[in-house]
Amino acid sequence: MSSRTETFEPTVPRSLHAGDPGALGRVAFVLVGTSHPGNVGAAARAMRTMGVTDLRLVAPRFDDVAERPEARAFASGATDVLDGVRRFATLAEAIGDAVLSVAVSAEPREFGPEPAPPEACAADAMAVLAADPAHRVAFVFGAERTGLSIEEVQACGRLTSIPASPSYSSLNLAQAVQVLAYCVRRAALAVPASADAAASAGARPGPRLADQQAVAGLLEHAERALRTIGFLDPRHPKKLLPRLRRLLLRARLRPEEVDLLRGVLKLMERGGPR
Ligand code: SAH
Repeated sequence: MSSRTETFEPTVPRSLHAGDPGALGRVAFVLVGTSHPGNVGAAARAMRTMGVTDLRLVAPRFDDVAERPEARAFASGATDVLDGVRRFATLAEAIGDAVLSVAVSAEPREFGPEPAPPEACAADAMAVLAADPAHRVAFVFGAERTGLSIEEVQACGRLTSIPASPSYSSLNLAQAVQVLAYCVRRAALAVPASADAAASAGARPGPRLADQQAVAGLLEHAERALRTIGFLDPRHPKKLLPRLRRLLLRARLRPEEVDLLRGVLKLMERGGPR
């Protein structure tokens, strides 16, 4: 290794053009309600250049968006990412298998997670992926005109904003994808190769976490149980549930903790022990 390369060591431990770290295979980028085929193609290219290939679309404006000529043209050499696109009717389904989902939005949202810089969220995602080889993470992007809704941001465990100029902070969708994909790649390269290899070999240095589908099921159960005991007023449910969702997502529950809480909720629904 030349001394010139070594000057980069603190931030890029592996070669600048190292192969794709295995953890990138467990990162999904989710585009919600995308309207322009060109943006889907350009997002695919942005991901592919950084070694991220799992592209998911939630209710795109056109069902065949990934096959449209404009998308193919903008994807350039990344049409394989478009070929592998998966479509989902709802955001909950698209992020159900992730243990951590990160909303990517210029705007914070009420009762959503506190915003953190992309680098911090990317590092967090890598730590989660390194903890267990079954873990997956998702980064969620909004539609061109509307961005992510309050509910969509609240559905995610974390929120990141690209610190752009306050006088014009809204990036083009595919360019926002590029920034995040770059941060994710840099974070993946900062994980020592030995840890990456150990994770691929099935080593489990951290606790297994419940996925978002399990947490969503817990929340639905909590809503029913809290209504049964009268703690949740169905006429004013708005604040309690988002607060509870934020708490449960922040807690990074383990599967057995979800089971424990559901056991408590079951008893609440039945009105205590019989
Ligand atoms: N008019 C929309 C902008 C949407 S831009 C709005 O006000 O929200 C499309 C998507 O690109 C956003 O939903 C977000 O996922 C991403 N994006 C654009 N600029 C961003 C920024 N500064 N930080 C984080 N994400 C951004």
